[in-house]
Amino acid sequence: MIHIDVTRIPQEMRNEGFQFHYQKAVEFFNSSEFDRKARTLISLHEGTHLLYARELGFEPKLYGPGIRYARQTKVFHGIVGAVQALPDTISMTADPIMLAKQLLGPECAQEKLLGFKTTGVLGISSQGDIEDYEKWFVRRMIAKGDLYLELDINARDAAYKDLGSPAFRRKLWDAAHEFEERVFGKPDFLELLGEKVRKTWEALGVSVEPQTPDENGFSFSEFINQVRCSPGSAQDKDRNA
Ligand SMILES: [Zn+2]
Repeated sequence: MIHIDVTRIPQEMRNEGFQFHYQKAVEFFNSSEFDRKARTLISLHEGTHLLYARELGFEPKLYGPGIRYARQTKVFHGIVGAVQALPDTISMTADPIMLAKQLLGPECAQEKLLGFKTTGVLGISSQGDIEDYEKWFVRRMIAKGDLYLELDINARDAAYKDLGSPAFRRKLWDAAHEFEERVFGKPDFLELLGEKVRKTWEALGVSVEPQTPDENGFSFSEFINQVRCSPGSAQDKDRNA
């Protein structure tokens, strides 16, 4: 059973709005819809935040699915997983490209490694990251004034360049698997067996091109449409990227 973290919602706030998101999350994460593809998508996304955070010298806490409350908009929302945000000592001083990659890199990784095209300019699952990026951009501009408008474009280019390196991809998949194991537990035996069978077919030269996660009724995208990967609230001291 996958646990839904509600520790950030005080008892007295657990109203109908909360119950709606809580039930939805419990049902989704403990159903067959939360399959290997969904796990992979979340773990790769969060693993990218994790790897870049480590490259910046920070060891973040990892969070699994949970319910959060956005104080600004006064709404509850589910999160599918999260990585602790960088402290100001790093986000206000470190190299801007590295910091922007830490926030915006996951979307690039999803696209490059999973063929997961998010809809529109603001990718659904990365919307919270983009909001976090914009909040960080404004705060750092006020504090130091050392950023420029095209930073996000350059950071995405830099992330795609990283993703072109086999050594980086290996490190990234390691971080993704680490996130998966620490947050969701080891994938079950049958699923692993399925992967072995797939690898055998591949070794025999049989084409088993993975479907893009959006095809074949991949209803995770429906789910993620309503819940976001990040609470994106700058007021939350323990904000997650
Ligand atoms: Zn994210």
